[in-house]
Amino acid sequence: MTTVGILGGGQLARMLALSGAPLGLRFLVMDTAPDACAGQFAPLLVGDYRDEAALAEFASKVDVATFDFENVPAESAEWLAGRVPVFPNPRALAVAQDRLVEKTLFRELGIPVGAFADVDSLEALRAEVERLGGACILKTRRLGYDGKGQFRIKSPADVDAAWEALGAQAATVGLIVEAFIPFERELSVVAVRGRDGEFRTWPLTENWHVDGVLSASLAPARVDAALADAACAHARRLAESLDYVGVFALELFYRDGALLANEMAPRVHNSGHWTIEGAETSQFQNHLRAVLGLPLGDTRVLGQACMLNWIGEMPDARAVLQEAGGHWHDYGKEPRTGRKVGHATLRADDASSLAQALARVGGVLGREAQVAPVVARLSG
Ligand code: AMP
Repeated sequence: MTTVGILGGGQLARMLALSGAPLGLRFLVMDTAPDACAGQFAPLLVGDYRDEAALAEFASKVDVATFDFENVPAESAEWLAGRVPVFPNPRALAVAQDRLVEKTLFRELGIPVGAFADVDSLEALRAEVERLGGACILKTRRLGYDGKGQFRIKSPADVDAAWEALGAQAATVGLIVEAFIPFERELSVVAVRGRDGEFRTWPLTENWHVDGVLSASLAPARVDAALADAACAHARRLAESLDYVGVFALELFYRDGALLANEMAPRVHNSGHWTIEGAETSQFQNHLRAVLGLPLGDTRVLGQACMLNWIGEMPDARAVLQEAGGHWHDYGKEPRTGRKVGHATLRADDASSLAQALARVGGVLGREAQVAPVVARLSG
């Protein structure tokens, strides 16, 4: 009996555990919160990731360890890796935790990125904002997610306010300023690499964010084959350079027919949730296969799929459940403003059926604005 340990016990760990059940796997999840939602399906060890005694207990009970949460301290991941196989490896985790290190690696690998700079003072920020042309985003290098730890600088006049908001963090988690990319689309490649180096990607996904949080995803993205091939080649180069094992996502901006990398997520990713019903093998199943050294499953898409995120509270399930290709995922979390509490996936054989299903669901739930950009893309 193999036990997979997961650091972080949120919805990603929960979906990993659900998808691992048919493989006969057992799970142990570790989280700082006693009500972590993966705990409803797997034994939960409550503890701080920096607590050696808790980590030692975790290590003693698992055969292999992986993550649902990328901000596990790098030293804890290293410590664990000395005792049990850890995938992805701690170096890959450390690179993905730091926006500056990550973007520098993208550039070294020839993966196009927008202009960026490390800033450690108000003067440095002012100079970089001038150099980058005025429109920028100031971000924390570490520990930012879902648009948190970011300040949009529309012009040099906003520099003082940006420093006021985030400057104190320069000394703790570091700051990076990026040129604002007026992108036309946001895309992601969800990819998997096995222990033996086998590499696969799911078809490219188009993503829509609201207030920095993913709202909807459509797969396959409507992009030409050459662009999709380029995105997959970037993901492959990145995975090989990090000797990455498991699933990860590479988030990209699309503008004027070209791609710019934004960031990588070293774990299963929200933009890959559609693969549960919309692909031959889901990202969760393939992540487990990868970390266990099992053959990877086919990543072929089954028709077309759209995922809608439920943020803050769950809507009424019936509108989705009554659709032929409607699938419901309730993470069992307490409703809270801004919290990802569930998602739905609608799957159909063709674009017009998917657009019609989305319009029906959006109408019944009063979520026309959430489905509108996807319906527009499908109809375009
Ligand atoms: P991130 O945490 O880097 O994924 O940023 C969250 C969201 O903010 C992204 O999905 C984009 O919608 C937006 N964003 C981040 N960086 C930039 C940028 N350099 N230019 C334009 N939009 C950005």
